[in-house]
Amino acid sequence: MSEIVVFGHPSLTTKSVNVENIDDYIISLTKKMIQIMYDAPGVGLAAPQIGINKNIFVFDAGDGPKVAINPKLEDLQGSVVFMEGCLSLPGYYWDIERYEYAKLTCLNQNGEEVTYEGEDLLGRVLQHEYDHLQGQLLLKQLKRKVRKEALKEISIKGFPGDKI
Ligand SMILES: [Zn+2]
Repeated sequence: MSEIVVFGHPSLTTKSVNVENIDDYIISLTKKMIQIMYDAPGVGLAAPQIGINKNIFVFDAGDGPKVAINPKLEDLQGSVVFMEGCLSLPGYYWDIERYEYAKLTCLNQNGEEVTYEGEDLLGRVLQHEYDHLQGQLLLKQLKRKVRKEALKEISIKGFPGDKI
């Protein structure tokens, strides 16, 4: 059974807090998050998606698993529309406009300062997961009318696996 929480859970709309110490708990948490992400399967997972409001996300944009702790967006450029989904909104996909390029600095699981930057899938994952830490879901990126329709559809259909 998945530990991923879905839309409606309060941790998804709560702003996360910085990690003070990268201790054994945080290291094992990042390992667990990577496992949950691959099991889902997904290309990114933020801590609020498993009910933990800490500034941590993990991702794999095709280059192996990466950990981002206390990330800061440094640069955003261009714009591109791309089909996007979220493990906390399972079964739904929308065309979402975002910056084409994103650059982010953060700490990795060893406490080293690292920079992740890129376009395409990587640029998108960085923005999507960063938004989770701000308490924002991709629904926020939708145009008003589309968002209204999306919320209506979710309220009627729910999510796959939901027991009503
Ligand atoms: Zn998501």
